[in-house]
Amino acid sequence: MTVVGIDDTDSRERGMCTTYVAREIADRLQKADLATVSRLLLVRLNPAVEYKTRGNAALAIHTECDPDRAFEIARERLEARSETDDERTNPGLVVAAHDPDEAVPADDVSRFTHAAIRDHLEISDAAALIDRHGYQSWHAGDGRGRIGALAAIGAWTALGEWTDEYIAYREPERWGTPREVNHESVFTAAEWGYPDVWDTVDRDENETVCVPHTPGPILYGIRGDETDAVRAVADRIESEPVATTQRFVTNQGTDVHLQDGAIGDVADGRAYRLEGRVASEPETRRGGHVFVTLESPIDGDVVSDGAANDNATNDGAANDNAINDGAATDETTGDESANRLACAAFEPTKRFRNRVRALRVGDRITACGEVSDGTLKLEKFAIRDLVRTERVTPICPGCERTMESAGRNQGYRCRDCGTDAAGKANRSLERDLEPGWYEVPPCARRHVAKPLVRGGFDAPTHPER
Ligand code: ATP
Repeated sequence: MTVVGIDDTDSRERGMCTTYVAREIADRLQKADLATVSRLLLVRLNPAVEYKTRGNAALAIHTECDPDRAFEIARERLEARSETDDERTNPGLVVAAHDPDEAVPADDVSRFTHAAIRDHLEISDAAALIDRHGYQSWHAGDGRGRIGALAAIGAWTALGEWTDEYIAYREPERWGTPREVNHESVFTAAEWGYPDVWDTVDRDENETVCVPHTPGPILYGIRGDETDAVRAVADRIESEPVATTQRFVTNQGTDVHLQDGAIGDVADGRAYRLEGRVASEPETRRGGHVFVTLESPIDGDVVSDGAANDNATNDGAANDNAINDGAATDETTGDESANRLACAAFEPTKRFRNRVRALRVGDRITACGEVSDGTLKLEKFAIRDLVRTERVTPICPGCERTMESAGRNQGYRCRDCGTDAAGKANRSLERDLEPGWYEVPPCARRHVAKPLVRGGFDAPTHPER
């Protein structure tokens, strides 16, 4: 068997799409060489990588074709298709003459794939590994694309969880023109395919999430757990003529980018799953972005009703570094304290912000997202423990008016009735959140982020659709 890995062919302004180049290579391998192509992998790498064009995708083609011939065909297509007039496009090709799941190179190439998904790599890391295994490679520009190409080769052994994407491509003469896709038919097809097929539409935003807005060749991409189901949903969509279609096996919707971490140890450009305690009241800032500070849980810190709110302060001081989110440009904040971390739900996450606004100081949560400029961009969170009461000034049992302070450390007193109370009273809180997982809506989902509807979470889920 032969594994062909490719990456970095497209440009934000000029279009193209590496999935399309992979499909063309697979097509030529099958037609020109009558070689079997068993699958195309679409592998999403670290979404925090600054060099990415959009979704940081790399592609692998698993084929029976002779490796030299596969290399020749892939190189010809990459040279023809890569938008190398854009200096940010640095295509790479790596060809491995072994089975996709062969054990010998699997260890270090698998590790490389994991690092490409969760960490940052150097071009020299890829070049050294390519040499060590005697893989054939080609590149243009600075050759950064070899990182993704090699990561795509290791993906089959590195990853255990796969989903499907069925992509319909446009006729080339239509590229760059507005897409003609019947809105209603997408919603009807999405409803029919749910929950095996997900992130096709966003019902609240009335958005056809599966139809891109970029100038490239994709008409729509249908994602889900079942090969037959994604294809059937695609078949139900009414649109302009579809030039070609292709099934991809992907790591989309799997959360494989998240690593378990501790609030004090996070680093920029990586994505985490963190346990913490809400340490500031959520705050909506300019641009509609919502911020909340999380702090490390104290050992044995179980939220007991009432007690958690004794030190409920809106820690304004915690929020005074500026970050620039890129997608949702605004001045935002980080937290300099080692055991505190600013978390943000940016405006594009829409109704998810209401979930974050509903948090209260003392709530125990698990927060997931990428850390950028010291701030965690929330993708999902789980409520582990909710504060159910708050501490308030006591009410006089006689006249039902609020008591007044009787002086420092002297409790409270009702001047009219003469009643007194030793300290604050507990009042139960109405909460708009329940234990379990909350997520951003489909319109704001990262490719690699796992939609709650897919299941397998450690608590009840509240899926968005
Ligand atoms: P395309 O459709 O062209 O693949 P994209 O959004 O997937 O677009 P690329 O244009 O491929 O992004 O740019 C990402 C670049 O970053 C590639 O050259 C890839 O090899 C490289 N890269 C990917 N992951 C990492 C990583 N973890 N560390 C360093 N470089 C990386």
